[in-house]
Amino acid sequence: MFRNENAVNIQDPIPDDTEFDIIVVGSGNGACGFLSEIQKYKHNDNLKILVLEEGHNYFYTSDVTHQNGWSKTYASGDIFKLHNAVTPDGRSILAGRARTMGGGGSINYTMIHESSEWLTKQVGHDIGYWNTCKVELNGLFERPNPFEVGYQTPFAKYIIENNVNAGYAPPTEKHMTKNIPSLTESPFGDKNSKQVYIFPTQFNQFGQRTHSGVSLVEWNKVDLRWNRRVTELQMEKSTCTGVKVLNIDTGKEITYQVKKGTGKVILCGGSQSPRLLMNTEVLAKSNDKIGKRVNDHICMPLGIYLVDKKKISVVGPTDNYQSLFSTEIIPGSTNGVGDANVVNIDYFSGEGWKSIGDKIADIKITTSLVKFNATREGYYEMKDNKIILQFFDDEQDTITAEKAINDNIDLLESNGVKPPFLVRFLIQLVTKIPYKKGRQVKEFVKHFADKTLLSEQHLAGGCIFGDVIDKGLNDSASTGKVFGSDNIHVADLSAVPLPRVSTQMTAYLMGHHVAKQLYNTKKKN
Ligand SMILES: Cc1cc2nc3c(=O)[nH]c(=O)nc-3n(C[C@H](O)[C@H](O)[C@H](O)COP(=O)(O)OP(=O)(O)OC[C@H]3O[C@@H](n4cnc5c(N)ncnc54)[C@H](O)[C@@H]3O)c2cc1C
Repeated sequence: MFRNENAVNIQDPIPDDTEFDIIVVGSGNGACGFLSEIQKYKHNDNLKILVLEEGHNYFYTSDVTHQNGWSKTYASGDIFKLHNAVTPDGRSILAGRARTMGGGGSINYTMIHESSEWLTKQVGHDIGYWNTCKVELNGLFERPNPFEVGYQTPFAKYIIENNVNAGYAPPTEKHMTKNIPSLTESPFGDKNSKQVYIFPTQFNQFGQRTHSGVSLVEWNKVDLRWNRRVTELQMEKSTCTGVKVLNIDTGKEITYQVKKGTGKVILCGGSQSPRLLMNTEVLAKSNDKIGKRVNDHICMPLGIYLVDKKKISVVGPTDNYQSLFSTEIIPGSTNGVGDANVVNIDYFSGEGWKSIGDKIADIKITTSLVKFNATREGYYEMKDNKIILQFFDDEQDTITAEKAINDNIDLLESNGVKPPFLVRFLIQLVTKIPYKKGRQVKEFVKHFADKTLLSEQHLAGGCIFGDVIDKGLNDSASTGKVFGSDNIHVADLSAVPLPRVSTQMTAYLMGHHVAKQLYNTKKKN
């Protein structure tokens, strides 16, 4: 049979007696960060690595990963799977995860790192170590520096100008590590406590995704199997000897073996990593911190405005999701782990109602989302696979939401013009989205907290460094190792509390960090 030597393995059966040096559960951001770091070193070339992904491999098609394919992504139960997330009193929260080759990285847009100070606090090592990790990882993304002339669209530049007029510090190259920004620590009142960040996108000028985490890995060097769900970690005392897997194509179960003595299982299942550990009795019964300290961003849609007639012609297809954030530190507000909370605003612009008819086809709209960490962290429950998220359980969440919207409503309005009264009336009737400060904002926040409850699909935590997994500060070979096990490590976003900004880069970084500590013999601490 003809086979391109560089092509990804096409699901051949694996001989029963095969033993793997490394079995990676999941192919998402953590996995891509982990594998790309291992593959950097020649001395790892002989490792026999198996990657098992529950989702389908959508890299056969491209439309779902197109910048304008978001709705398809969300509509597809194959790619996006809802969690059973609820508040403590049982109200549903819209929160989900990616279930596809490449994990969230295959459908992500925004790119920003947490601060190196935050990483030091949560994971250990010094600030210099994290700066170096970011340089190494960001280099692999091969994205242009967004400060290059012509990178930002004219409409994005206009939004940045409006931000500056509203008191935000303009984006600066000081916040970039190579081509990707990092959140910068700045106390409230500091001139940078209101800051705009710009980031590169992983799309070309047509909006097609050309880069993502899967571009970082040489997949032909590993055994990759998709449509394979790991259902059980098989344990002999504290050692994982193999993983039981459901082949979703055939409905058959199979066990893959871990090499005796030296083999490792690396959990990169994202939000499913805590579940796999909770279902592993020998580990779960000795550590009640598994599945705790979980959180997501509260994500509130804000007003729809019409793009001013003079600006309509400059809103192009890649303005759909603008590659910039405004961030504001809200005094007194905390992020669930005691740090000052950061409110982020995302911007979207484009053709609003083209499908309704040609007459209004040239109407363009601009809108935004405001998002921030819930003050109280949540937890996983065994029953019904529930995840309890304590959104608005602490009154600080209401205070943060009201302040963020009141502070920024004039800025949002400066990006466009209010729709006619009747349209506004209908929007407000259904959603209570405010167009004025004060009472309208209060009503909207209450309505959202009671009825809407949308998360940003950024679930983090559950296998936290120091609580569930070893920081490896005395012995790098223990980095990410699950307490009570000899050879199970976690290398994804479940290893840290929720970052205060978009999460994907932190997930890659966790994979990169664990691989660097375990498999790079020349690492610097
Ligand atoms: C719709 C959506 C949009 C997002 N947009 C952004 C964005 O624009 N910017 C941003 O920074 N972040 C974004 N995120 C968040 C980001 O995707 C996640 O924070 C990130 O992917 C987490 O990485 P991870 O490696 O921990 O887990 P994931 O990337 O979720 O990877 C886990 C992988 O493991 C697989 N898996 C799970 N359980 C098993 C099992 N038992 N057996 C085999 N495989 C398994 C899953 O299918 C998945 O592919 C978005 C998330 C979603 C859902």
